[in-house]
Amino acid sequence: MAEVKFDPARAKRVVVVGGGLSGLAVAHRIHERMQSLRRPVELTLLEARERVGGVIWTDHRDGFNVECGPDSFITNKPWALELCGRLGLKEKLIETDPGRRRSFVVRDGRLTPVPEGFVLMAPQRLGPLLATPVISWRGKLRMLMDLFLPRRDDDAEESLAGFVRRRLGREALDRLIQPLVGGIYTADPNDLSLKATLPQFLAMEREHRSLILAGLRESRRRGRLSGQASGARYGLFVALEQGMGAFPEALAAALPTRTIRTGAAVRRVIRNDPVSPWLVELLDGPPIEADAVVLTTEAHAAARLIDTQDPGLSLQLRSIPYASSIIVNVAYNRDQIQHPLDGFGVVVPIIERRPILAISFLSVKFPNRAPMGKALVRVFIGGATQPEYFDLDDTAIEEIVRRELGELIGASGDPIFIQIGRHARSMPQYTLGHLERVEAIRRKLAKHSGLYLTGVAFDGVGIPDCIHAAEGTADTLVNSLTEAAASAA
Ligand SMILES: Cc1cc2nc3c(=O)[nH]c(=O)nc-3n(C[C@H](O)[C@H](O)[C@H](O)COP(=O)(O)OP(=O)(O)OC[C@H]3O[C@@H](n4cnc5c(N)ncnc54)[C@H](O)[C@@H]3O)c2cc1C
Repeated sequence: MAEVKFDPARAKRVVVVGGGLSGLAVAHRIHERMQSLRRPVELTLLEARERVGGVIWTDHRDGFNVECGPDSFITNKPWALELCGRLGLKEKLIETDPGRRRSFVVRDGRLTPVPEGFVLMAPQRLGPLLATPVISWRGKLRMLMDLFLPRRDDDAEESLAGFVRRRLGREALDRLIQPLVGGIYTADPNDLSLKATLPQFLAMEREHRSLILAGLRESRRRGRLSGQASGARYGLFVALEQGMGAFPEALAAALPTRTIRTGAAVRRVIRNDPVSPWLVELLDGPPIEADAVVLTTEAHAAARLIDTQDPGLSLQLRSIPYASSIIVNVAYNRDQIQHPLDGFGVVVPIIERRPILAISFLSVKFPNRAPMGKALVRVFIGGATQPEYFDLDDTAIEEIVRRELGELIGASGDPIFIQIGRHARSMPQYTLGHLERVEAIRRKLAKHSGLYLTGVAFDGVGIPDCIHAAEGTADTLVNSLTEAAASAA
């Protein structure tokens, strides 16, 4: 490998590929750090599309704030909240409506409340679990066996579904946990790695043996939960007042002018010469020389970019599977919907055999998403469990959505609008072996000084996780650039 020769007087040239939240957060952090170190940096962010934000974007139409991607982020992981603080966005954060913090699950074609206190996989209250019609008596008895089952003490990797079947039984998986957890990852829990997605539940078993005991103790530890305990988790979510699109917009605005180039698709990243170690080739336009390059695209896109430079690393990146999904925003006059919409939405178990994954009542969760007297709901389609629906054309999708909304929430008549947003291969699936795959990718990457990788594919899919990983990558890069410059001086 050629030795990198640094000229300490020259501004370092850093190219960030991908203008989703990860790319923007990397660029923002590099700018912040280099400014505070009073070091010059020539920062360029290249985004293939005509806008930044990646999967995050908000449309404003007919008085609605239409979320085409994520609708909120969780605050018990602090990194997104902290970044909002640094961007001056704290006052613009809104909480979910406290009066309606609950959700539904479809059982035999009807909306049934998720039992209060049921947090993803661990019930924190027994009464509502015993009373719920979502699970049969037989299923409930099987769930209670978790109180007596021994902990598993071998280290073999387990799928999320395998873990739930072992602890709580098949019915709990099929009726509650598959739709609740599957919704977060648009994934099939039979393939998901438990330790890569929800390791806290593995830790619960290790520490408390039983998930139910762990849940009850956790609830006691936090004091008596007031009101609707199943909604406690919803209290942790926030969004931007103007819509989630305001987050990438604020990051972009905080960067020096001319840092961001949209409509700039990268074709290839290759090693150059000792003075300018990396060359970033574009689909259109002259190549860009760089001291360091950060790839923040989807793993399959990053794989294409470094195929020539390191086919082995490229192959590893390609081995991270992705799912595609569709989010359909549907706007109604409130009186077109019969259901009271007294919750944040409904998840649909696979065994109900319906063509949708979930419906989110967006304007109930965040009332300013729709004008007074109107309602905005979002229907989720596709994911890893129903990939065939992604290929349907818009007319077929519209038909499905109208039929499902009619049957499930009693929506009737023509909506004010239907907006279909497609997310092709945008949600990585942390399947069995994910942590080992990421480890192997990091080992190969370490051989390429000045090349960095971050994004949703590796260390957590939520917005706070992506920001945390992006900022960590930026810190490593800045340290390496400044140390190299210091030793060359
Ligand atoms: C449908 C959906 C809903 C979600 N909802 C939530 C939610 O409610 N809350 C939450 O916390 N998280 C949510 N997430 C996860 C969250 O969106 C991600 O954590 C985060 O936004 C990912 O950002 P990213 O920059 O890593 O990836 P992306 O947003 O995918 O950005 C990658 C960027 O790279 C660009 N790119 C690709 N190839 C090239 C190339 N050759 N040259 C230049 N640019 C290129 C792409 O155009 C894209 O803009 C959701 C994800 C999806 C898909």
